[in-house]
Amino acid sequence: MKILVTGGAGFIGSHTVAALQQAGYDVVIADNFSNSKPAVLENIRKITGRDFKFYETDVTDTASVEKIFAENKIDGIIHFAGFKAVGESVELPLKYYSNNLQSTVVLADACIKHGCNKFVFSSSATVYGDNDIPFAETMPLKKTTNPYGETKAINERILTDTANANKGFNVALLRYFNPVGAHESGLIGEDPQGIPNNLMPYIARVAKGTLKKLSIFGNDYPTKDGTCIRDYIHVMDLAEGHVAALAKMPQGVSVYNLGTGKGISVLELVTAFEKANNLTIPKKFAPRRAGDLAEYYADASKALRELGWQTKRTVEDCCRDAWRFEKNNSK
Ligand code: UDP
Repeated sequence: MKILVTGGAGFIGSHTVAALQQAGYDVVIADNFSNSKPAVLENIRKITGRDFKFYETDVTDTASVEKIFAENKIDGIIHFAGFKAVGESVELPLKYYSNNLQSTVVLADACIKHGCNKFVFSSSATVYGDNDIPFAETMPLKKTTNPYGETKAINERILTDTANANKGFNVALLRYFNPVGAHESGLIGEDPQGIPNNLMPYIARVAKGTLKKLSIFGNDYPTKDGTCIRDYIHVMDLAEGHVAALAKMPQGVSVYNLGTGKGISVLELVTAFEKANNLTIPKKFAPRRAGDLAEYYADASKALRELGWQTKRTVEDCCRDAWRFEKNNSK
């Protein structure tokens, strides 16, 4: 089976390519390095000892995508490529809507033209909006809080409508919780450009001394220690969730949460990082960040029931692996 991975040089994409190759799939990567580096590709090859075809391509471009499908018999696609900075999406909504929606339209169209009948979409728990916890796939979705989140919700609808209109075109919408950690080898990991927006890479850079101090956004939430609660999932567990979704994809449209099913607080994650790596993270409390929900985590039971997938790695593994990658990285 040959799988096209868009955004395969990115954080979740690169780990998923490694997991796919280790499970015996042939991989074709399309990435335009808009938020990743070419060196990642060599590091994936080092991890798996296997090669893949690579296209430096913007997947919003119909002709470039057509070329990939003409040159390769693609059996399935995992679509990661997209912009993901929440704050930037509020400033530049059209950049997000045009890029993140256009790519899905172009890729789904190519799948249908070329008889590729498996489409796995990189969605997000953000589509649940401010909902009851734990988030379950059966819940009606609520309004997302920013254009980035809205592109995930709209892409889910685009793919659902397309699958409903084209019998045999099967779609799995994977709703990720908070992916963290890195490959156990330390060769690939999360490497954001500039100052990280997300918690784990920020902690890792404070540990390294690149950033001085972690600001914990809000300690007055109605949670056990006043800081926000999230479901942090090791990126390799997440990657393996994609392999399971491809292997067991039901007919039509299916939706799966990929999370651990357990929420932990910002303070608990920072403490786990300090313990796992035997160091201290300088930190201070800061005001709440706009748009943050106090608490959410996954009901992860459907993926276990239907895909036979559940997370295997611990919070300590996440912290140890994130730090190993940060240390190895030259920044
Ligand atoms: N957070 C924080 N300091 C940071 C970055 C994030 O306190 O420098 C908090 C953030 O307010 C949220 C949690 O960490 O409660 C996870 O944020 P992240 O941006 O990693 O993911 P999100 O849950 O927003 O998708």
